[in-house]
Amino acid sequence: MSYIRFLSFFLLFFIFNSSVSYSNETDGSVKQNQNINKNCENSLQWYEDHPGYKGELRRVLKYCKNYAKDVSPDGFIVNPIISDFGSFSGVNTRPRDTVHQGIDIIGLAEENVIAVADGKVLETTVDDCWGATLVIDHGKSLDDKKLITIYGHVGDFMVNENDSVKRGDVIAKLPKKVKHLCMARVRHLHLQIGQQYCKKEDKNNWGCKYFIKDFYNSLNPHLFWADGKNKVTCFEKNKKFENGTLTYPFECKKTN
Ligand SMILES: [Zn+2]
Repeated sequence: MSYIRFLSFFLLFFIFNSSVSYSNETDGSVKQNQNINKNCENSLQWYEDHPGYKGELRRVLKYCKNYAKDVSPDGFIVNPIISDFGSFSGVNTRPRDTVHQGIDIIGLAEENVIAVADGKVLETTVDDCWGATLVIDHGKSLDDKKLITIYGHVGDFMVNENDSVKRGDVIAKLPKKVKHLCMARVRHLHLQIGQQYCKKEDKNNWGCKYFIKDFYNSLNPHLFWADGKNKVTCFEKNKKFENGTLTYPFECKKTN
């Protein structure tokens, strides 16, 4: 092979490969944008029933499309996070009074919410402000923290109190209609991890209004993903996950 032929072969090879990887990358970010747009639009269905709030809808939708975080791990698309752990921004553009103790993940009407680990259902309660909410004891993390997990603002419960659940089991559906004040007109799951569970009979006593009495000491769910800290991990059937680690509370879609 002459030097020129070799060089042109090499160049073609390089151009071909870089164009392939470029188009894959574009494909991925287009899918991520579509994912964010679809979830933002769908999570704001409250406004379809309240046509008088068009200006607010425009504002909240724009905010969602700009600030919803796509945390999809490689090869998957997952529901976006609209307000992360530690955030001072709410789901609806308004600042929070206090730092966010959980993560808020937007989603579709009646979408399945799945257990982040094996566990036992401590309670299913419909709270005036939070709406339907489950608390599940997922045992302990690898570093010996309790994983008492609140799944707030859901719709129908798919499990009962005292049930044992397996990681990936459908435990609830997101609501079709957003009715409760704490949901702030945006359909989302609030996932929060506490240490000190408030028994049902302690409800409404000081410090026990909302399921746990950890005040501002809830744990960051991103510390406990099965793939490691800050590595959102998708539940997959037939895959083994270590006890004490978490997987995402929604079913992930494979991108290929
Ligand atoms: Zn929240």
